[in-house]
Amino acid sequence: MDNTLPNFIPFNKPGIVGKELDYIQDAVKRGHLSGNGFYAKKCQNLFEEKYKFGKCLLTTSCTDALEMCALLLNVKQGDEVIMPSYTFVSTANAFALRGAEIVFVDSEESNPNMAVSQVEKAITKNTKAIVAVHYAGVPCQMEVLTALAKKHNIVLIEDAAQAIDVKYQDKYLGAWGDLATFSFHETKNIQCGEGGMLVVNNPQFKERAEILWEKGTNRQAFFRGQVDKYRWVDLGSSFLLSELNAAYLFAQIEKIDQIMTWRRAICARYEKGLKRLKDQSLIDFPEPSSPNGHLFYLKIKNQEQREELINYLKSENILSVFHYQCLHKSPFFLKNHPDKTLSNAEGFEDTLVRLPLFNSMTEEETSQVISKVKDFFNNMKINA
Ligand SMILES: *Cc1c(COP(=O)(O)O)cnc(C)c1O
Repeated sequence: MDNTLPNFIPFNKPGIVGKELDYIQDAVKRGHLSGNGFYAKKCQNLFEEKYKFGKCLLTTSCTDALEMCALLLNVKQGDEVIMPSYTFVSTANAFALRGAEIVFVDSEESNPNMAVSQVEKAITKNTKAIVAVHYAGVPCQMEVLTALAKKHNIVLIEDAAQAIDVKYQDKYLGAWGDLATFSFHETKNIQCGEGGMLVVNNPQFKERAEILWEKGTNRQAFFRGQVDKYRWVDLGSSFLLSELNAAYLFAQIEKIDQIMTWRRAICARYEKGLKRLKDQSLIDFPEPSSPNGHLFYLKIKNQEQREELINYLKSENILSVFHYQCLHKSPFFLKNHPDKTLSNAEGFEDTLVRLPLFNSMTEEETSQVISKVKDFFNNMKINA
């Protein structure tokens, strides 16, 4: 594989979609480059207004926003946090960092999201929070989880890293939980290299979230003239996103409708192009694959065949990737926990492959990927 070849198709290609460079230049001229500046506030206001989110705070990453959630909940040793095993490591690490016991739940059979029917069984008197992850932007059943959290008096958090611009029933994802987190990492739908956001929907957490965000000081209240000097009043850390990143991000948000159109069109082309293989039960994929076109994945018969497919595509200069290694099987978790089986999650770990998907992906590139996936399965039949 040679990624300098003109016909190389990368897995992801982050890029400019609008006025990113103009806004960065403007931010430099404005002479305020640290956090919560002109563009950061524009981003935060837009999210609050467009998606009806609670208080929005831009952070350096989704990981950091999740760590803020753990701090806000005063998570400590002995507390339990329920989440899917099939997720990114930060979902769990943020709470483990504060000493929480992570309680992993299996995926649904039909998609990698946490099996809602398993959640109530996992609740104990020590449960502090449930973290719902909307894999590929596919909504978890938030009305069920909301009712459960309310019934047991626990906090509901959405890891909405992949779920920007997705409406579920009457509300956008990210507006359902007491708290929600987003990622603007370069692999996400709208991005600024590295970046994230905490959404505080439950007003109970609003004031403290601002303090944790500002290194444990009441600096935001000071800026608003509510206190005469700012001081160290609580725990916190340096969570604010740089204004340079926020300027880039604002240009991306302005183009969000366009980005969604591009990405959904790529998914639709994959769905159409690979339909026959699905009908022949050689592969499987959900339809629609991703409500916001975040990612497109296939499920392959088994792990061995998946490796062969990834290698074949690589030899054809196409980069595809598998996704999460289940966290209940991770070396770190197994050090202190008995081995157990969560069969749906392990199924996704073994058989899921993500195909290239990025905003600027052309029709020719998508067709090339489809044709090579088809070749792989057709050659396999001939050789069988
Ligand atoms: C991308 C991702 C994260 C981490 O986001 P960062 O901004 O890179 O910290 C967390 N959770 C999920 C589900 C993700 O997809």
